[in-house]
Amino acid sequence: MSSTTDPTPETVDRDFIRRGVELADLNAVRVALYQHTHDPAIAALPVAAQLDDAGRALLIDKAVDWLEANSGPGMPEEPEESELRTLMNLATAEEMGDLEFAARRELPAFKPFPLMTEWQGEKPEIPEGFNVAIIGSGFSGLAAGVQFGLLGIPFTVFERRPEPGGTWSVNRYPDIRVDTISITYEFAFEKEYRWSEYFGRGAEVRSYLEGVSKKFGVFENTKFEHELRTATWDDDRSVWVLELDTPNGVETHEANIVIGAHGTFANPRFPTFEGQDDFQGLILHPARWPADFDATGKRIGVIGNGSTGVQLLAPIAEDAEEVFVFQRTPQWISPREKYGAPVEPEVRWLLDNFPGYWNWWRYMAIAALFGTHGYIQPDDEWIANGGKVNAMNDQLRETLTGYIQTQVGGDEELIAKLTPDYAPFSRRPVVDNGWYKALTRDNVELVTEGIARLTPTGIETTDGRQIDIDVLITATGFEVMRYLWPSDYKGKDGQSIHEFWSEDGPRAYLSVAVPNYPNLFMLYGPNSQPLSGGTGLPIWYVIWAAYAAQCVKELLETGKTKVEVKLEAFERYNKALDIEASTLLLLQDEGAPDKNYYVNEFGRLQVNAPWYGPEFHRLCTEINWDDLELS
Ligand SMILES: Cc1cc2nc3c(=O)[nH]c(=O)nc-3n(C[C@H](O)[C@H](O)[C@H](O)COP(=O)(O)OP(=O)(O)OC[C@H]3O[C@@H](n4cnc5c(N)ncnc54)[C@H](O)[C@@H]3O)c2cc1C
Repeated sequence: MSSTTDPTPETVDRDFIRRGVELADLNAVRVALYQHTHDPAIAALPVAAQLDDAGRALLIDKAVDWLEANSGPGMPEEPEESELRTLMNLATAEEMGDLEFAARRELPAFKPFPLMTEWQGEKPEIPEGFNVAIIGSGFSGLAAGVQFGLLGIPFTVFERRPEPGGTWSVNRYPDIRVDTISITYEFAFEKEYRWSEYFGRGAEVRSYLEGVSKKFGVFENTKFEHELRTATWDDDRSVWVLELDTPNGVETHEANIVIGAHGTFANPRFPTFEGQDDFQGLILHPARWPADFDATGKRIGVIGNGSTGVQLLAPIAEDAEEVFVFQRTPQWISPREKYGAPVEPEVRWLLDNFPGYWNWWRYMAIAALFGTHGYIQPDDEWIANGGKVNAMNDQLRETLTGYIQTQVGGDEELIAKLTPDYAPFSRRPVVDNGWYKALTRDNVELVTEGIARLTPTGIETTDGRQIDIDVLITATGFEVMRYLWPSDYKGKDGQSIHEFWSEDGPRAYLSVAVPNYPNLFMLYGPNSQPLSGGTGLPIWYVIWAAYAAQCVKELLETGKTKVEVKLEAFERYNKALDIEASTLLLLQDEGAPDKNYYVNEFGRLQVNAPWYGPEFHRLCTEINWDDLELS
């Protein structure tokens, strides 16, 4: 796992180190330095945003001095609990409560496998033939593979694609990259990966995941091109019988435990239009991007302005003759610092030679998400006084509206079309990849009239305009409401899980378990994605994998064979979840629930966990055994 930006040792002089510190996250520098020195002058400094020139100079000088004398590879020992808490409080200049500390203590990732389940006493004997089947080899399936490998419990990953990576194997459209900074979008147990850019490109994330799969022993236990069709529970024998499509035809496999890591964004949603069959051009979904596609000289329509549509517009517009962007609903689109920027050699050096910097940079980058709960909690008094949501959210709306104006100049008509009439944070925030600027190009037009139908040569809009195009890019997202689909799981009474969910969409207990489907654990399941006070998704994949592993460990330690969530616990949890969700912006008018893929066709919050992040962390890490039945 290498990088091209490693400096040669001769180039590392005081100036080089200084440049590194100046480019670095100064909060992380401050905490890492304090961890080594316990220098009261460092502790007395405020957080980076509040540093004055003298404080900044003091911090940088002290860091450079320390690094000149002490730099070298390695990672500090995990501090004692009270010391860790002091450092974490110092990092954000806030005293955190016990609930928050419990949720955040593993974020600096000093342990080899933070948050994973490990044997406490002696490992029990694993019964002959006992095995875990993991469906999917994206981030979630890999987390599960590493987790069960760590416990020494035999597992097999079944992956329908020919390689690991999930989302990052499937999506290869132009300019695909992460929109959450890579230091937060990586596993805490892989501490050595050297991202070449702050926001990793798709190919690099794919190669990262393949590297993780190989380094941690998952790859060799993976059967690629194996697609699960149906899993049927055999209650007498406490096993799942899996039917899989493979290159050799249909195969069956039995597993004691199934981890459903099928992915939420795994099955592309293909829109259908009247006249589609008559259209003579090419229709492209970003998740089915042909490697040899060349936009040069083409007239292209782009449907969709979510994360993907926004990522691919600028590079397409550079080559195409003309691009028509069809917008149904405007999005809140915002810039990110260092988006598209390489990790500078000086910062790379710091990551390699300033022990603790990686840990505290990671912590600080994740800490940026701690306060997000505030954005989605409407403030009644604020609203009664004429506000829209609350002070924080309205302030953000103003900032983002200002951003649109700066990006498209003074074109008032365009600004009006681009400004959403609902609140930020109602939907997934979209990161700007030069989208607004691309709209101001001479060869790009924003079309806000609806699409009436496709014609042989292009698109007819609802106001009767004919727009001729050669290619239609449908950046219309994924079938996010159809968990585990198109596979089926048949539980204790033979019922299909999709039938069980037919009343108002997929539901689970803690997003992980469903009554009547014993020994099945979903990762990134229904109502899983934390909305607020979050900590980055890869941490959650590990948390859910560890939850499953704790249950399996309990079975093995007690000699039992079956674990299942009680119906009463499932119903109680979901009732509380619905109540909690109803208090949040997303289900209120200002959150435009009818335009939001987080909300399902039954008007229910479907993708997200509505809980305050640290509370959801507690629920998923402190197992309530009374809610489960082990037999
Ligand atoms: C374009 C794009 C960009 C994104 N960017 C970010 C980001 O920057 N930050 C972020 O936090 N999240 C991002 N996401 C969300 C992303 O999906 C998750 O972060 C993460 O990749 C999900 O991992 P997963 O393993 O749960 O699912 P997936 O990555 O979807 O993996 C699921 C795997 O299961 C396999 N599978 C499914 N069904 C079967 C079956 N029946 N049999 C066998 N195999 C099966 C699939 O082939 C796939 O490999 C992005 C999503 C997309 C689509």
